[in-house]
Amino acid sequence: MDIFAMNVFNDAVMRERLPKATYKALKKTIEDGKALDPDVAEVVANAMKDWAIEKGATHYTHWFQPMTGLTAEKHDSFISPTADGKVIMEFSGKELIKGEPDASSFPSGGIRATFEARGYTAWDCTSPAFAREEKNGNVTLTIPTVFYSYTGEVLDKKIPLLRSMEALSKQAVRLLRLFGNTTATRVISTVGPEQEYFLIDKSFFDARMDLVLTGRTLFGAPPAKGQEMEDHYFGSIKERIAAFMKELNEELWKLGVLAKTQHNEVAPGQFEIAPIFSTTNVATDHNQLIMDTLKKVALHHDLVCLLHEKPFAGVNGSGKHNNWSMSTNDGQNLLDPGNTPHDNAQFLTFLCAVIKAVDEYSELLRVSAANPGNDHRLGANEAPPAIISMFLGDMLSDIVEQIQNNGGAVSSKPNGTLTVGVSTLPEIPKDNSDRNRTSPFAFTGNKFEFRMVPSSASIAGPNMVLNTIVAESICQIADKLEKAADFNSELQALLKEILVKHNRIIFNGNNYSEDWVTEAEKRGLPNIKSMVEALEHFIDEKNVNAFEKHGVLSKQEVHSRYEILLEQYSKTINIEAKTMIDMANRLILPAAAKYATDLAGSVQSVKAAVAAADTSAQEEVIKEVSSALGSFKAKTVALEKAVLGAADVEDAHANAVYYRDIVFVAMNELRIYGDKLETLVDAELWPLPTYVEMLFII
Ligand code: ADP
Ligand code: MG
Repeated sequence: MDIFAMNVFNDAVMRERLPKATYKALKKTIEDGKALDPDVAEVVANAMKDWAIEKGATHYTHWFQPMTGLTAEKHDSFISPTADGKVIMEFSGKELIKGEPDASSFPSGGIRATFEARGYTAWDCTSPAFAREEKNGNVTLTIPTVFYSYTGEVLDKKIPLLRSMEALSKQAVRLLRLFGNTTATRVISTVGPEQEYFLIDKSFFDARMDLVLTGRTLFGAPPAKGQEMEDHYFGSIKERIAAFMKELNEELWKLGVLAKTQHNEVAPGQFEIAPIFSTTNVATDHNQLIMDTLKKVALHHDLVCLLHEKPFAGVNGSGKHNNWSMSTNDGQNLLDPGNTPHDNAQFLTFLCAVIKAVDEYSELLRVSAANPGNDHRLGANEAPPAIISMFLGDMLSDIVEQIQNNGGAVSSKPNGTLTVGVSTLPEIPKDNSDRNRTSPFAFTGNKFEFRMVPSSASIAGPNMVLNTIVAESICQIADKLEKAADFNSELQALLKEILVKHNRIIFNGNNYSEDWVTEAEKRGLPNIKSMVEALEHFIDEKNVNAFEKHGVLSKQEVHSRYEILLEQYSKTINIEAKTMIDMANRLILPAAAKYATDLAGSVQSVKAAVAAADTSAQEEVIKEVSSALGSFKAKTVALEKAVLGAADVEDAHANAVYYRDIVFVAMNELRIYGDKLETLVDAELWPLPTYVEMLFII
């Protein structure tokens, strides 16, 4: 394991290479959020440059996460001219701390007019810099940064995430003080995101315009064998995948990503990689690196990695399981039930805070998991449904029920310790996590697993929302308890009140069942089926207030994000629709017409040779193909019209609704006939790799 973190400018490297005073000052900034001294930055920059040059770097980049959900970078070389016509390698503190990429082509949702294109990147020293190595030998010093506009508005996904971590820390520390904790000074949200993905052979990918342009198949008849055949799909592919995973792991380890890879048996060709958890901002950066590395390493093996939420209709989709918890800097996991009553009371309070947050802000959580790809996944009979509920498991649910019914005073201990029903709390076995895989938000021993998160998206959004809503919930609890005359009795009353009010969000049954949809409706839980519908809630007053109160996003920033996301939806559907039209007109229609012509030729030749020969089979197929082709053409024309109509709908929200209700519907209608033709037309003539090829030949 000596390759682990070999390309990371981490704590160990800094301790070794920085003067003691500089190291100490930087640590203060990283751990306590103190402002960074320019003199310190100068020294750090120099050490970082020397380290990177030893690794073979010639360039550095400020690496940032604009609203595209991807990462962006602009490379600058260390080279600086000298008076005698030579060059030296230079990297100043100023260059480390601040960069200025041209911001005009990144989404800003109207915050920044193009004439004010200035956007700045600033070093996020809480996420370590690293040296990125490419296959061609290029090495780039990569500095994680945040991205904001000339006027100070946020243009990226990292700033709100960092702000939400601050907010959560502040509120959680308040609550900890009430429980007598005097040592913790920070609470850190931790995340371990499990990443699902597909691998397909590159030759198939290259032959599919839809995969190349949109990341998902827009046509494709279901294979005769689906995921029920998971038992045998491996066979001889094993070595190729194993070689891929070996390289993937090594690349990630070098970058300090604690990856443990495993193959996933849900769908053929689908796999999963899970890193060991870390602080939310590092986990977010690492997840971006994982997605990037998956794609790059796949190509080395003539494979293509598909991160789309639903690359294949009718086949299990991909998501991320966002495992989330809160830890103190004195070493406690706040969602660990523990085994002492005192800790359990504290645990139950944090647990109730999460329950309250998820119920009060379930729409906002749903927004955070919305992207165009997830519209195909959420609610399908595989992924968590679109209805947000929480799984607590039998044991915790029992405790929660007791508190709710009896005010928690189930059992009182003579020594006067807190009695929130805690003495009946058995230790939660760590392995009860597998008992419910259908819940979108499940308690899994010492953390919550938010399973709705889209496979292709940054995890910054979901965690920004989780941190903010839990901060708000803890804030309300702390407000009450700080004024309490009798802490114990007020705490018991408060927890009871919270659980009575919010127990509707708890559901331990099968989230895939029809009964749950009906039951959830009775409970008044929202069932938000599409990204557009979810986005409508992003700007709800309640949600904007929570963001503003905790300093995570201003009202203007929320609205700009709302606009960006609506546009992203419309643009995605627009590209998909145009790709479909192109494939319909230039690939599928000619192939089907050729087949009908070939068959007609066959009828004529056969008849000419033997007048009495039976050509009814060919004639039957000609009729079937021609009829399907007629409908296919009509639906193509209808889709073309639908796409043209979008130009008349100007308002961003109305436009997105139009794409969802008119364009997307027309796409699905066209697909039916395209897939029908695939089942009729001669395989030799069919212009696209089939589902069987893509999913099983790898
Ligand atoms: P699963 O059964 O869902 O596959 P795993 O045991 O593989 O679960 O763990 C899933 C993820 O949860 C891992 O990334 C792990 O590091 C992470 N995890 C464990 N503890 C915590 C925690 N306290 N906070 C955040 N993530 C955690
Ligand atoms: Mg999981």
